[in-house]
Amino acid sequence: MRARDVHVWYGETHAIKGVSIDITLDEVVAFIGPSGCGKSTFLRCFNRMNDTVPSARVTGEIRLDGEDIYAPDMDVVQLRARVGMVFQKPNPFPKSIYENIAYGPRIHGLARTRGELDAIVEAALEKAGLWTEVRDRLQEPGTALSGGQQQRLCIARAIAVDPEVILMDEPCSALDPIATAKVEELIDELRGRYAIVIVTHNMQQAARISQKTAFFHMGDLVEFGNTRDIFTNPRETRTKDYITGRFG
Ligand code: ADP
Repeated sequence: MRARDVHVWYGETHAIKGVSIDITLDEVVAFIGPSGCGKSTFLRCFNRMNDTVPSARVTGEIRLDGEDIYAPDMDVVQLRARVGMVFQKPNPFPKSIYENIAYGPRIHGLARTRGELDAIVEAALEKAGLWTEVRDRLQEPGTALSGGQQQRLCIARAIAVDPEVILMDEPCSALDPIATAKVEELIDELRGRYAIVIVTHNMQQAARISQKTAFFHMGDLVEFGNTRDIFTNPRETRTKDYITGRFG
C-alpha cells in the first residue's frame, strides 16, 4: 500500500499532517508514538474505517496495488476484506467459533459448497494457530474462548477472506503476557503472506516483531525506517527522545 500526503481532520483537530508511507508485503510495520499522536487514525485510513466517524475528513491518496481506495467507485466492503482489521479488544461475533470464520467467506461468495466452506474455516484456524485448540468445539460460542484465543479467532476471521493486508490496532493490549507471546509468534508466522501493520504503545513489542517502524508525533510521521535503526540509531531527535523514554 502506498499513502501520499495524507491528512486527517476531526472537525478542527488536525490529527494527521501530510503523511506518506509505503507498506510492502514482506514485512511487519509497527506504528509507535505517544498516545494521541495519530497512530490509530492513520491505520484506519488504510481500510477507510474513518468513514464511520462523521467528523473525520481524509485528504491525500492511498493506493492498494495501484488502486485508489478513496475513489468514489471503490467497494468499501470489498476493500475491508482485502485490508482486514484486528482491534484492541477481541470482538468475536456472538456466534459459534465456526460461524465467526465462515461468515466472511460466505458473504463474499468464496465457497460453493459446505465442504469448501469447512476447508476455508479449517485453513484459517490452522493459519491462526488455533485449529488444534478448537477443532472439537467448533459449535461453541466464540465468546467462550479465552481472551488470547478470541484474539487469534479474530485474526483467523480476517485471514478467512484472503486479505492482502492485515491492520492490527494494539492487538495485545487486553491480553496477558502468555497470550501476547502467542499472538506475537503468530504475527511472525504470517509475515510474508500478508502485509501487516501493527499499532503498539509497547516499544519492546515493536522491536520484537517488526522489520520497519514508523514513529509518529503530534500527527507527523517523524521517522520511518528499519526497526533496528530506529531503536539503535535514530536520525531524529524526537525519535531518540521518545525511545529513550524522555517523553510519551
Ligand atoms: P493514537 O492512536 O496515537 O493514540 P489517535 O489516532 O487515537 O492517536 O488520535 C489522534 C488525535 O485525534 C487525538 O488528538 C485524538 O483526540 C483525536 N481523535 C481520535 N479519534 C477521534 C474521534 N473519533 N473524534 C474526534 N477526535 C478524535
